[in-house]
Amino acid sequence: MPSTVTAAQIAAAIRNVSDFPKPGIQFKDITPVLADARLFAGAIELLTAKFSPGSVDAVVGIDARGFIFAAAAATRLKAGFVPVRKKGKLPFTTIEQDYALEYGHATVAMHTDALKPGARVLLIDDLLATGGTSAAAVALVQKLGGTILEASFLIELKFLDGRKQLPGIPVRSLVSY
Ligand code: AMP
Repeated sequence: MPSTVTAAQIAAAIRNVSDFPKPGIQFKDITPVLADARLFAGAIELLTAKFSPGSVDAVVGIDARGFIFAAAAATRLKAGFVPVRKKGKLPFTTIEQDYALEYGHATVAMHTDALKPGARVLLIDDLLATGGTSAAAVALVQKLGGTILEASFLIELKFLDGRKQLPGIPVRSLVSY
């Protein structure tokens, strides 16, 4: 059944917070979308629109807001949920991937047994900015032998051209700036 919620309705609920967490950043706050039952459910429908239950083995969500959307998407698609976490948070053995930030670098990690080789993966995060975080998550999935069917984002900051960090991967975003 097609979603009764439109991307424009989701866009209208996203709150822009200037200068958070530091001066110059326009932070896109998705908590009003989560708090609205209809918009939250609609966002999950739109993020998973390409897929039917059983066509995805794992939905990989990125720390931390990506977890919220990815976990809900996983139940809808009858798929497992796998977290990509910031380094040092996962308890079992991990593989790690470094990526560049504006100043310095960061590391994300995934459990070594999180995916079966050949797993069909939908990658989800709340927002695509420069693409560094998602590209690192893609690298982890691929190291474990997973295939990314699509990378799906609630928000895309188009002017940062993060898609170019995800060559060969179909990218979906619901709202762009
Ligand atoms: P990037 O690696 O530059 O694509 O950054 C994407 C990650 O940083 C996502 O996990 C987002 O949650 C977060 N992020 C980056 N920029 C913003 C922003 N303007 N508002 C909210 N979250 C952001």
